[in-house]
Amino acid sequence: QTMAHSKTLLVLENFIGGKFVPCSSYIDSYNPSTGDVYCRVPDSGKEEVEAAVKAAKAAFPVWSSKSPLERSQILNKLADLIEHELEAFAQAESKDQGKTITVARTMDIPRAVYNFRFFASSILHHTTECTEMSTVGCMHYTSRMPVGVAGLISPWNLPLYLLTWKIAPAIACGNTVVAKPSEMTSVTAWMMCKLLEKAGVPHGVVNVVFGTGAKAGEALVCHPDVPLISFTGSTLTAQRITEKSAPHCKRLSLELGGKNPAIIFDDADLTQCIPTTLRSSFLNQGEICLCTSRIFVQRSIYSEFLKRFVAEAKKWKVGNPSDPTVDMGALISKEHLEKVRSYVKKAQAEGARVLCGEGVDALALPTGNQKGYFMLPTVIAEVKDESCCMQEEIFGPVTCVVAFDTEDEVIERANSVKYGLAATVWSSNVGRVHRVARRLQSGLVWTNCWLVRDLNLPFGGMKASGIGREGAKDSYEFFTEVKTITIKH
Ligand code: NAD
Repeated sequence: QTMAHSKTLLVLENFIGGKFVPCSSYIDSYNPSTGDVYCRVPDSGKEEVEAAVKAAKAAFPVWSSKSPLERSQILNKLADLIEHELEAFAQAESKDQGKTITVARTMDIPRAVYNFRFFASSILHHTTECTEMSTVGCMHYTSRMPVGVAGLISPWNLPLYLLTWKIAPAIACGNTVVAKPSEMTSVTAWMMCKLLEKAGVPHGVVNVVFGTGAKAGEALVCHPDVPLISFTGSTLTAQRITEKSAPHCKRLSLELGGKNPAIIFDDADLTQCIPTTLRSSFLNQGEICLCTSRIFVQRSIYSEFLKRFVAEAKKWKVGNPSDPTVDMGALISKEHLEKVRSYVKKAQAEGARVLCGEGVDALALPTGNQKGYFMLPTVIAEVKDESCCMQEEIFGPVTCVVAFDTEDEVIERANSVKYGLAATVWSSNVGRVHRVARRLQSGLVWTNCWLVRDLNLPFGGMKASGIGREGAKDSYEFFTEVKTITIKH
């Protein structure tokens, strides 16, 4: 890069103890829709993490002794401030991540706002247990305390949405935090830091350290004064975090990948099922952990479904994410795009049929986006259950459609992957819907819908999709330590 070029770059700084602090080295961050470097992200390591943990520790005694109501008011204020700048946040998220401006405006940023409002409210409504043993004159009760400094590590697909889903409950419960967003999508977290003081968040309660997983992330995971780590990301990274944190016996919450099935029975309402399954396959370029990537269709409706599904997928418009008429933006990085494409090639080599998208249809991009990381929604049929395309998380706009005959068979096939995050069942038979939902190995089962969430209820996966759940009660339990107290009278 020339000097003139680097002057125009956005340069982020860490946020430690209520102050923005520069870092000694930086990482380039790309605009996925143009392929240009547009931002420089601190390449933090042990030293920066040490300073952030120190600030968080110092802020803990005062913050943890505030009443839930005081903390709730601050969270609500922060929600209002982010909402006030919703458009600026949405523009930044779209530019940084490649997602469409429409998705950023209607999903990512509104949800980040709601995360703070939701935990501002729910923190006021928890109760504890009490029991009595009259024969020995004792009563017992439980009390919940914040744990201390929480380490929060988040991925690049829903940047502010997922980071605030951790920050909000952590600080609502009275913890202080050191957060590390993905090095590929750090801008909106940095923008949020600018609002903390105005919202009344005391210095040191929220610290954000930017950088890579290997350096900044691992320094946080290995820090002896960070007793709990809440992580959302890939299963591989979770294994590493588990190993690295084991010597400290840290409390871990792990929200990981998925290989989510949609099961479509012959009595499904296809007018609802087809548009929803398109969204569940391709929303946010298929870069949502909950996205469908294995579609099992009962044989009697298989051809009809496939024909209609492919015809609709071909209508999805891919292009400049800032164009509000576009349905799909750019993938996060060149490397990720290549990885996603390589799965389509592997499927073809195995004899599967690619019905639309990658390698089949032409992708026409606007002049300014020729170097962006785009691909078309891709539907693959006749792929074997053992294929890597049916077993591994692709995390892009690629979905496989296969036929099945019986209920027992499809449940077994749907369960035959290492993951267990989210499943979708389509049928108008109520009995069947309940039966199948109970037998699926999946933390979430949506029937006749997708991505309808009540934040009160547990969110998370089983098997390789994670350990622990997040939600009103679940996050409260994760971010607090429970104590049983016995009083003899
Ligand atoms: P990733 O695991 O590569 O990175 C996630 C975060 O961990 C990033 O901030 C990264 O810098 C950090 N990290 C990487 N190595 C680390 C290490 N050794 N120690 C500490 N931190 C480290 O995941 P990604 O590619 O950013 O995100 C995509 C993955 O996230 C997909 O697998 C997706 O399914 C999953 N995901 C899961 C959920 C869920 O709620 N279950 C939600 C969104 C995404």
